[in-house]
Amino acid sequence: MSITNALRSGVRVQINTVINHYNQEHLDKTVKFLVKHFPQIQHFVWNNLDPEMMRKTDTAWSTLPDFDTFSQSLKKAMAYLESTGRTFRAEKVPLCYIRGYEWASTETRKIIKDEERIVHFLDFRETVHETQWDHGKPEECKKCGLYSICGGIYEREKYYNYVKVYPRNISKEEKQEILSKF
Ligand code: SF4
Repeated sequence: MSITNALRSGVRVQINTVINHYNQEHLDKTVKFLVKHFPQIQHFVWNNLDPEMMRKTDTAWSTLPDFDTFSQSLKKAMAYLESTGRTFRAEKVPLCYIRGYEWASTETRKIIKDEERIVHFLDFRETVHETQWDHGKPEECKKCGLYSICGGIYEREKYYNYVKVYPRNISKEEKQEILSKF
């Protein structure tokens, strides 16, 4: 109802979804549902769950996503939105989990374009001026051809230490093709 009301009032609506254990298998179905019912929506964003910001309870821990699982439905969602001419971004998602859609990574875009960002939070963080987009990477990433443009794994040491990485062995031409999409 709130989306309907916002659209009726002329508000530009964008959908921001937090990827978590409970939606990781149907991210594509969610966007298809939204586009079907609200075709005016043109831009979608996915933020991978930020464990730092959640309560430290068993219920909260159960929301941590499985990266291999969400990667499948996320790429399907991206393919669908791309086919409909819509735009999208994914944040806190390592490039090996959005293969083919590297250009949609918020961190990679910021790294390549040397961008900064100021975010105003309603909690203790208040205003944060972000200038660093590499969240940190495990040792295996050093052999990855996307190392210099990948944001790595957010909160890897504290929470996401179970996440596997898949280093890419790519040619100069393949990397150039990825860069040309920004
Ligand atoms: S292997 Fe590491 S550097 Fe390469 S895409 Fe995955 S997280 Fe990024």
